[in-house]
Amino acid sequence: MPQTIRAAVTRAFGQPMRVETVTLADPGPGEVLVAVKACAICHSDITYADGGWGGTVPMVLGHEAAGIVEATGPGVMRVKPGDPVVVTLIRSCGGCHYCAGGHDYLCETMFDLDRTSPLTDGTGAPIGHGLRTGAFAEKLVVEQSQLVAVGGNMPFASASLLACGAITGVGAVTNTAKMPAGADAVVIGCGGVGLNAVQGARIAGAASII
Ligand SMILES: [Zn+2]
Ligand SMILES: [Zn+2]
Repeated sequence: MPQTIRAAVTRAFGQPMRVETVTLADPGPGEVLVAVKACAICHSDITYADGGWGGTVPMVLGHEAAGIVEATGPGVMRVKPGDPVVVTLIRSCGGCHYCAGGHDYLCETMFDLDRTSPLTDGTGAPIGHGLRTGAFAEKLVVEQSQLVAVGGNMPFASASLLACGAITGVGAVTNTAKMPAGADAVVIGCGGVGLNAVQGARIAGAASII
């Protein structure tokens, strides 16, 4: 049964989000329903909400979430109800040209959720699944590849940071810059991503971090 949840909806670019009651579809094949326990806010959410990336409204933004799996659709192997999970915006098939080459973030497979948002308003009109996640909400539905189960002891607010800020900052050092051990690193701007770039540089063995 589709359920009614509260979500922060962006109805117009540059305007405040409004908490509304919306309808969330059941998880389809390969999809998972997650009860959101924490969601960080990212500059990408703000840029989107301000209209910086175009797209269409209304939509529910939020893509750095952690929560508990509530239900799974047919064929879900990766997680089970009750699992604490981190939810990310990266949806990947594991089998296409890009996934096979280790570039899951470029996955070119079209999923059901790419065609149809699981969110609708009271009149049945669709509400966009912002950044493939729609996490500024009590619950969300995503494809199973967007989930990673985490240990039950990690606080949800900390776990949510792993969804975007940590992978972006650490990945900038290890994957984009490919910083060799012993190099010096300069990090300009220490917000959520920058602080994780500092951690990434430390992990990668930087001689000094400025
Ligand atoms: Zn983000
Ligand atoms: Zn793929």
